Amino acid sequence: MTLLKSWHGLLADMQKIDAYKKYVESIEKQISSFLEYAIDGSRLKENSDKNLPFYGIPFGVKDNIAVKDFKLTCGSNILKDFVSPYTATAVKRLEEQGAVPVGKTNLDEFGMGSSTDNSALLKSNNPWKLNSVCGGSSGGSAASVAAGLVPFALGSDTGGSVRQPASFCGCYGLKPTYGAVSRFGLVAYASSLEVVGILGQDIETTKAVFNTIAFEDELDQTSFGIIENAPSDDAAVIGIIKQVAGLSPQIEQSYNETIEELKSKGYKVVVIDIPALEYVVPAYYTIATAEASANLARFTGIRYGFRADDIDTQEKMVAATRNQGFGDEVKLRILLGTYVLRSGFQDQYYIRAQKIRTAIRQGFDRAFNECDLILSPVFPTQAFIRGEGELSAFAQKMADNFTASANLAGIPSMAIPTGVKDGLPVGMQLMGPEFSEERIFKVARKLSHMAKDVVPPILDSSWRK
Ligand code: GLN
Repeated sequence: MTLLKSWHGLLADMQKIDAYKKYVESIEKQISSFLEYAIDGSRLKENSDKNLPFYGIPFGVKDNIAVKDFKLTCGSNILKDFVSPYTATAVKRLEEQGAVPVGKTNLDEFGMGSSTDNSALLKSNNPWKLNSVCGGSSGGSAASVAAGLVPFALGSDTGGSVRQPASFCGCYGLKPTYGAVSRFGLVAYASSLEVVGILGQDIETTKAVFNTIAFEDELDQTSFGIIENAPSDDAAVIGIIKQVAGLSPQIEQSYNETIEELKSKGYKVVVIDIPALEYVVPAYYTIATAEASANLARFTGIRYGFRADDIDTQEKMVAATRNQGFGDEVKLRILLGTYVLRSGFQDQYYIRAQKIRTAIRQGFDRAFNECDLILSPVFPTQAFIRGEGELSAFAQKMADNFTASANLAGIPSMAIPTGVKDGLPVGMQLMGPEFSEERIFKVARKLSHMAKDVVPPILDSSWRK
């Protein structure tokens, strides 16, 4: 039985709902992946057709993606009581196929971070080791999927936020081609880089969700859906990037094992050289923070969200609202963004970063003349322990090196579980040319036996039987 079949109809069955609720409650006590959840079947439309592919199947939604009547906090105090008046297109597409959003998952505030510890509202724990982070920024989505609370969840990926927590928690994480999925209803962090992505327990589920949410939406003029003639054939040649360095021993070992595995499946492996990748992190943080400074200017306390009170002028009210409402990482990025955009200095930072972005995109274009997909690590380490010995905030940013390149280039990439080392999962990513998701699924399937033991001990699916 496929995974989705085993969840089919769940929220239409009172007895199962009861068992499900108990399971979620017992796991949530340990991992806290949801900021809010409602497991009662009430969102399943009464006249919903039992033959729909996602009928009665629960899923999680990162809390920067709108679902009507659920809160939309973005993990921030500035929106902590804000209830969404509408539903994002990606969520709506799934609801139309019978799926039911059961909760909003925790995240780094506005998607800024790699651990989910930047959430102002909740600490989430890695289902493999509770003292470790679940990665970020879609950490709650990844943890809930890995722990079997939902078969899939939506996340967003601006610089790695779907793939990185997927590899920390041991599930699949697809960052689609830029524009394949509508961003309508996704709270903007860096609009030119981000896309709604999928965290899935297996490849077929991830693929089914992708095919449902990929859609040309008139509410998002940058959306395409899936184009005709998309590269969907199997790969023959897989590229590995010359510049890969700085991996922990566990990641390095798994990377080499994956390369060997690809060779044993008959793929030719070639080394590709994209010199501009050296500048991924500075280019990413220049462009992302510039866009963030503009996108987050809307949070003033005037129209919605938190408002600081007892202030006599509007100017002071806005300043106090933003000062009290945003966390430190968000403030840092707004300041950095306004710094790189200030008049007279754009050539030095923002425009330079755009030139690097073009060079990276062209570098990938050239590479895809030599290979069909690229294999790369996702992150230099496995999930790190919270507190002492933790990666510094700066080191976490430098570690976006492997993932943010796909966002700068707009190309698809999927994190796949490739094993367990020292009690924690490891993941690698497969990147491809624009709209090559289908090809990525094909190669991922050939590697899927590497993922078969990547199941956290906490997971129990017996309640579903
Ligand atoms: N870690 C990256 C950041 O902090 C990526 C975040 C994301 O993709 N939303 O910006």
